[in-house]
Amino acid sequence: MTWPEVAEAVADGATTVILPLGATEQHGPHLPLGTDTIRAAALADRLAERLPDSLVAPALPFGCSDEHSGFPGLLGLDAETLARVILDLARRLAGWGARRLVLLSAHGGNGEALDIALALLRKELPDIGVWANDNLETIAPALLEVARRDGISANAVGLHAGEGETSEMLHLRPELVSMHRCMPGFTGDMEDVLDRLRASGLKPVTASGVLGDPTHATAGRGSRYLNALADDLAAALRGDADGS
Ligand SMILES: [Zn+2]
Repeated sequence: MTWPEVAEAVADGATTVILPLGATEQHGPHLPLGTDTIRAAALADRLAERLPDSLVAPALPFGCSDEHSGFPGLLGLDAETLARVILDLARRLAGWGARRLVLLSAHGGNGEALDIALALLRKELPDIGVWANDNLETIAPALLEVARRDGISANAVGLHAGEGETSEMLHLRPELVSMHRCMPGFTGDMEDVLDRLRASGLKPVTASGVLGDPTHATAGRGSRYLNALADDLAAALRGDADGS
């Protein structure tokens, strides 16, 4: 957008800004490091289609990804730093008339930074409404419902670079997916392994970096995943606006 386009949109009531939060970290041998950034931007676009009074900011390509230490390619921020970056951006967008900030993270490791950011924003920018998606470390129920209908198990969908993210990437950027390198990673219970992941990162759990089984990924299901997630987020945001 140009600045006059932003000015006009805000004057017409588009005062919600969606900030997609991605990451730069390993996504197995078959997906690019920027997977979460690409997914965050795509999800933000779909959410904006459902919330007409919103604008989409460029996706932040760096998140909190230390659970991927030991895999080359990692770039990330400390939780406090990411929270401060979000606060800095919020100050600027408040300056040209945005009234609500939606923090849309496509990466589970950003949870702590989001908690810090929400506290900072409420204290320092009380006039800006903030909303952040939660349940970052679990597979979203809306997504699991799509998988279940197709006979794909939660453990195949996976928490990271599994069938879920691979299907989404096959839909969004198929030229960046190396399906011939796809292999099942850790396919045990995704809920049970969370404590181990928090304590020691992914490396001891999965040598390839994959949590799930990407081998049955399809672009069509990836599209349905993204739409189901966007529907869910839009409903949550509308509910939030009604309730406050
Ligand atoms: Zn990811």
